[in-house]
Amino acid sequence: MKIGIIGAGLSGLTCGWYLKKNSIDDIIIFESSEKAGGKIKTDRIDGFQLDRGFQVLLPAYPETKKVLNYDKLQLQRFHKGSLIYKNNKKIPFYDPENGFKALLKTVVNGPGSLIDKLILLKLKWTIGRLSVEKIFNSKKTITSLEYLRELGFSERIIEDFWIPFYQGVFLENTLDTDSRMLQFTFKMFAEDGAAVPKEGMDAIPRQLVDYIGVDKIRFNTKVLHYDNKSITTSDGKTESFDKVVLACNISKNGNYHTVTNNYFETEKLPIDTKHVILNANPNRVINNVVMISNVAPNYSRNGKHLISVSANGIHLEVDDFLTDLKSIFGLEVANWKLVKSYIISEALPVINFEKKYKPLSPEGVFCCGDHLLQGSINGAMESGRRTAEEIIKGV
Ligand SMILES: Cc1cc2nc3c(=O)[nH]c(=O)nc-3n(C[C@H](O)[C@H](O)[C@H](O)COP(=O)(O)OP(=O)(O)OC[C@H]3O[C@@H](n4cnc5c(N)ncnc54)[C@H](O)[C@@H]3O)c2cc1C
Repeated sequence: MKIGIIGAGLSGLTCGWYLKKNSIDDIIIFESSEKAGGKIKTDRIDGFQLDRGFQVLLPAYPETKKVLNYDKLQLQRFHKGSLIYKNNKKIPFYDPENGFKALLKTVVNGPGSLIDKLILLKLKWTIGRLSVEKIFNSKKTITSLEYLRELGFSERIIEDFWIPFYQGVFLENTLDTDSRMLQFTFKMFAEDGAAVPKEGMDAIPRQLVDYIGVDKIRFNTKVLHYDNKSITTSDGKTESFDKVVLACNISKNGNYHTVTNNYFETEKLPIDTKHVILNANPNRVINNVVMISNVAPNYSRNGKHLISVSANGIHLEVDDFLTDLKSIFGLEVANWKLVKSYIISEALPVINFEKKYKPLSPEGVFCCGDHLLQGSINGAMESGRRTAEEIIKGV
């Protein structure tokens, strides 16, 4: 059986991975760009590893656990929790798993009231006991912000922690994202934190490509037309297939959240931390700052430190970032040098959770991709697996 897959992002690669695992390896993956990985790519510039947009793997993701070899990825872990900056103050919000001192700091100086911390513990306990299926099968449709208010959190902790933290996860500022996504990611963060592979985020797609075989991918080959039995590429060739998988948003349907990610180099770190730093200042531009080479030393191989700074939306002026960074870290920011700026206009898809994902379209074309299920590594890989299973079922 000959399968044609359009797109070598995580969803297309995961589909190919499962097909090969089930002895279907007459596949061709058509990829319009020069590399596999889609939204997960890493550039190597002047001894730095720069992920194209700050991203993390949550090792608790059920789909990545099924496929990826974490030992080979050599995951470099963030410390659980966050360090919040607001009005020239540092507010620690550390996970109790960081030790008693961390717990004490959080209880005494952390954001919100004692009641907020008790609600948080209850949430951790409740969501810890819910399965991922149960979370996504829930019929309740409310936004994440409505959900947090319904749980009884004070406006103070919502402003100081929840909004700054989830702005960076959802890449939108008002927490309009469906509350099921907040529950799912909260569960994942609580279970096993966040990490990046030692050799950059693109080690994830590289591992899938190694298994599938790079000879199965046709790079720099854009698909112009397709149906359930054929694919036509920009060089004018049409090939026949037994099944066709569309693993990208070829017609660019739907809306996306946008993010700007600037990387800076510096001789001296403003703070020695492996926590994500959240900016909770009013009128902020940037969401978060990460001392990425402190978390993952291979992100800099030239003796300098690499700092990742993200802001939702499009920001062409680096000065917008520097003004915010100075309000957090002071004048030493003047010595930071911009390494590279990434503006990602189609970062996370806006998902309607009421629309159920179906791996087979009425036209007989199989389809997968984060835009059809959830905007995450887990969502992309789940859709790829479910598409492969649908194909295997019909064999
Ligand atoms: C800045 C940013 C931050 C993120 N942060 C996180 C995070 O921290 N954690 C997390 O879990 N997820 C995160 N994500 C989401 C995650 O990266 C994506 O959900 C996932 O990589 C999407 O994979 P995909 O295969 O669905 O789509 P894509 O990655 O978009 O893959 C589609 C592929 O199809 C190719 N293609 C498109 N059109 C054609 C054509 N006509 N012919 C041939 N090929 C074509 C594209 O070049 C691409 O390679 C982030 C995404 C971004 C952009």
